[in-house]
Amino acid sequence: MVSLPLPWYVAVEEGCQLLAAAGFKELKETEKWNVKPNNKYYVTRNKSTLIAFAIGGNYQPGNGFAILGAHTDSPCLKVKPISKKMREDFLQVGVECYGGGSWHTWFDRDLTIAGRVIIQNGKSIAQRLFHINKPILRIPNVAIHLERDMGTKFEWNKENHLTPILATKITEELLTSAKPHKSPDFPKIAENHHSCLISAICGELDVSVESIIDFELCLTDTQPAAIGGLFDEFIFSPRLDNLHSCFCAIKGLVNSTKSESFETDTMIRMMSLFDNEEVGSETAQGGQSTLQELIMRRLCSAQNHNVLAYEESIPKSLMVSCDMAHAVHPNYTEKHEDQHKPNFHKGVVIKTNQNQRYATTAITGAIMRKIAELGGVSVQEFVVRNDTPCGSTLGPLMSAKLGIPTVDVGAAQLSMHSIREMCDTTSVKMTCDLFESFYKNYSSISAQLEL
Ligand SMILES: [Zn+2]
Repeated sequence: MVSLPLPWYVAVEEGCQLLAAAGFKELKETEKWNVKPNNKYYVTRNKSTLIAFAIGGNYQPGNGFAILGAHTDSPCLKVKPISKKMREDFLQVGVECYGGGSWHTWFDRDLTIAGRVIIQNGKSIAQRLFHINKPILRIPNVAIHLERDMGTKFEWNKENHLTPILATKITEELLTSAKPHKSPDFPKIAENHHSCLISAICGELDVSVESIIDFELCLTDTQPAAIGGLFDEFIFSPRLDNLHSCFCAIKGLVNSTKSESFETDTMIRMMSLFDNEEVGSETAQGGQSTLQELIMRRLCSAQNHNVLAYEESIPKSLMVSCDMAHAVHPNYTEKHEDQHKPNFHKGVVIKTNQNQRYATTAITGAIMRKIAELGGVSVQEFVVRNDTPCGSTLGPLMSAKLGIPTVDVGAAQLSMHSIREMCDTTSVKMTCDLFESFYKNYSSISAQLEL
């Protein structure tokens, strides 16, 4: 999943496949659930949020949840509802910025589109994922000869200068005039976009233009992820933030259920991968929604009539909020606080912030250190400089909403929110091992707490 140059719907789809292959059964929110201990399940919302849970063999309602939280989305450019643009005989595609991307890194990249199309399929309405596997779009830089400051300062306007080129008018006319595309019932959605773009999508999916009801198209880099560095110790890839965490969460959960500890576990092992973290999480499928609580309540009430089982479960639970961390940058060392410089190969980062931009407390930090020790995983510390604003994660907002003690962790990376990011290969194994240890050991560590 980390290596796929595709947007998050595909990550969710891949996650579902990995879980299904490991024996997790799909549940629908719309249906009645009949869940049992020693069984594993997953559910999606909007096909962009994925929640999985494995119910320990000795689970009783009112017992705690061991929850890993991460986000599936990443900053990207998305095609506007009316994207057809033409300037100086160039066919261009209007795009909207999703999240806080380092947009300057999108210039001079070989781009394509991927995403989901909603189609009428007979009597049903269905989602189809697609990806055009060649560079069809580009946002060219202006030449340094025409913008003399380019070499020292690069300024651009998100509305005016980020519009990619799709084709030229002359070529489009030459190649498409012989086969007119319009039919009498050509739907409006197709009129809002260049017909050659719509044709390319229809060709990719092998569907008719008339069957498309709506779509959500993301621009992506065509360059595949790569292992890099002289000693093959780095990963260069789009969307490490936060598909790295999602991948490790799935692996950690799946691996933990293969051990004997699952059959005797008194808790529910849960993994919540939410959409829309990069834009504030306040959506039906985001971390600010009621989704997490609704699912936990369902699980608490599944087997008996203890009406307070949910309330009892909250203080017994722990949420590990996992999002990528800032590794120290050798060219910008002054950006990090002197004593807190997470680096490659040195462990998973525990993030702390006294202004509560991260949710870690002394207690949740202590539990995480025990979990790391039992899993044989090193940890590193991060606090932001006092004179620098601190980023945040799902951790504070979900712990405040649910009242669940939470710790913020993540693997160290560089180039966060760039079109192409960078981390080290060992962080994948360390994070997988940490999460597996969390699921295996949390219930026994929790039993030791005199708090
Ligand atoms: Zn993130």
